[in-house]
Amino acid sequence: MDANNVQQRRQIKVCIATCNRADYSKLEPVMAGIQADPDMELSVIVLGSHLIDDYGSTHRFISADGFSITQKLHTIVRGEDEAAMVESVGLSLVKLPDVLYRLDPDLLVVHGDRFDALALATSAALMNYRILHLEGGEVSGTIDDSIRHAITKLSHYHACCTERARQRLIAMCESPSRVLLSGCPSYDKLLRADTSSLERVCHRYQVDPNDFLIVIQHPVTTNQVESQKMFSVMVDAVIEFNHSTLFLFPNVDAGSKDLTRIMRRRGLESHGQHPNISTIKHIPFDEFMILLSKCKCIVGNSSAGVREAGAFGTPVVNVGSRQTGRETGENVVHVRDADSKEKVLRALQLQYGKRYPPSHIYGDGRCIPRILQFIKEIPFKSGIQKGFNFPAMPASSSQDIDHILEIQSALAIDMGGTNLRVAIVDLRGQIVYYTKVPNPPVFEERIDVLAALISDAKKKAVEHDCRLLGIGISTGGRVDPKEGALLDATSLIHDWSYVNLRALLSSKVELPVWVDNDGNCAAQGERRFGKGQGVKDCITVIAGTGIGGGIILNGEVQYGSTFCAAELGHVVVSMDGPLCSCGQHGCVEAYAGGATLDREAKSLHEAGELNDFLEADREVSGVHLTAAAKLGNVNAEKIVRRAGTALGTAITSMLHVVNPSHVILCGHLAPVYYNYVKAVIQQRALPSARKVEIVVSEISDPALLGAASLVLDYSIRRIYGNSH
Ligand code: UDP
Repeated sequence: MDANNVQQRRQIKVCIATCNRADYSKLEPVMAGIQADPDMELSVIVLGSHLIDDYGSTHRFISADGFSITQKLHTIVRGEDEAAMVESVGLSLVKLPDVLYRLDPDLLVVHGDRFDALALATSAALMNYRILHLEGGEVSGTIDDSIRHAITKLSHYHACCTERARQRLIAMCESPSRVLLSGCPSYDKLLRADTSSLERVCHRYQVDPNDFLIVIQHPVTTNQVESQKMFSVMVDAVIEFNHSTLFLFPNVDAGSKDLTRIMRRRGLESHGQHPNISTIKHIPFDEFMILLSKCKCIVGNSSAGVREAGAFGTPVVNVGSRQTGRETGENVVHVRDADSKEKVLRALQLQYGKRYPPSHIYGDGRCIPRILQFIKEIPFKSGIQKGFNFPAMPASSSQDIDHILEIQSALAIDMGGTNLRVAIVDLRGQIVYYTKVPNPPVFEERIDVLAALISDAKKKAVEHDCRLLGIGISTGGRVDPKEGALLDATSLIHDWSYVNLRALLSSKVELPVWVDNDGNCAAQGERRFGKGQGVKDCITVIAGTGIGGGIILNGEVQYGSTFCAAELGHVVVSMDGPLCSCGQHGCVEAYAGGATLDREAKSLHEAGELNDFLEADREVSGVHLTAAAKLGNVNAEKIVRRAGTALGTAITSMLHVVNPSHVILCGHLAPVYYNYVKAVIQQRALPSARKVEIVVSEISDPALLGAASLVLDYSIRRIYGNSH
């Protein structure tokens, strides 16, 4: 790209708003990343306690770090009580719109769970500015917990620190594609901390580099009385512990002044009364990190203890409820109910000087590149309205004129080993349009072919007056349907593991995408359009090239703990039977799969037994074998009987595990095996399990119709409620 093009390319305008040192330690690495990225333009709003002397005037460090501050906003109403926090939010809400309007960012980055961040997110959301929220999905005590989740709801994108946080965000109905598991930005620095200047830093803050304790304890806004009691107990324990100590003043939250008063009363501010203890408002993060890594213990309730100290294996005594629910490493000892000095003292004695293995729960040091990439992938040109992924439930029964005039349909795709089939399927299961092409063996080519087929089908939908509600994909292999991702391929489809089809396709085709395994799709196809209609407990067995299927219990598809439920082809029917495609012996697929019948047909043909059944232009296959069996060829009948008996045996085992009311046989071999299966069940199943109804599917292509059901089941429930 030449210089002109670089100039012409529009940069993404990212505004970072920082309110205090607590968010700055995480936002600073993001700011540095954005500042260094030629595709982005950084603006910085500084507000909150950054601008207050009592809290260290920490805005100075932002300039010293090389960032130019675009706007400073005084937003703190002093008083340090609950009302002051509310008034501070109010003041921010008054001042922010003008600034945001002027900066007009493409994206506002907000961190964490503080009241100032709530004001930022509220302003930006109301003004239709996109918000990226860092560190959502975590759990802690105090009002911070509620604020964090409220900001999640106001934000459009999320970069979170742990897998559990990611899961919580999704459980809070945020769309998985908008949630990035980035890790904590401060870990990009913590894991690269250079501690060589420890002596100098300790000298500056007047602690013994070989033997010192750090104390940071903030108010618990939701229980101030208890908070003050715990603070007093902690201070007394620290004084009695009598080691070189760096004592940080509490933050700006409601109750802060009372804690500072307790410090003063215990003589912690005046030099000399406790010569071992030095107090300070703030230490720049680069230095704080060094101290954190080398101190003998950190006590209090700061997130620096529970989230950051783990990076170094530094012991922590966490006091009270402020961090309740946070994920921590083994380096943390909780004194949840700090009702006596002795308890805190005992915890200090236990922890002081220990070293734990470092834990990387909150980050692997590679957060910033992930966040930058995530920002670049935001579709800034599309509408800002965010949706919530509520669980499916009956919705209003009103209708939309478009829905009445157009045929509501699904674009169904069946990804087989040989062919890729695409169909537009309407609500009644009618196939409005159908096409089939060979499935390319190479991944990139396959995705291109898929995208082209989808684009053609979208044009066909217009020609046929069809409204496509989404794309449903049925594929061989193990699938995570919640993520829309393939986990493992089958031997039939190459180059098809670890593919997040939903993420890959939905942005390309601008339609929601659902993905499921072909067996589960067949079960869903039967449930919506076939013999499974109105049946609550049902097993669908596909007898085709292989053996597969799906299990529906109480109306829900069963996926199992690792999406491996209903691998019906690998139900073992003999301890030392023939070799199966999975590498084991005795699976039902090795007896009854179409591929096995093809092989048996060839052997029988070589023995000269199938000549009467062959057609001139067709290769010998299982079709000839089953025809021969039907017409009385003894050896062919023996093979088919063995296969049918194996399938019946496998199904009998399934009946004893699942106890369905119906078993639906589908696939081209279903009619061939039907009588054998029924006979085995009558002979071998327990009397109560025998009551099952065995039926043969009447749908020619249940997996394809099932792919359509993935879309229709979800969308129709949303539009009409459950009755449809
Ligand atoms: N921090 C800092 N200097 C300090 C104290 C804390 O840089 O003097 C950092 C600390 O590493 C953490 C963040 O500020 O990343 C938040 O700490 P704090 O205890 O202020 O707030 P909390 O997150 O517990 O509300």
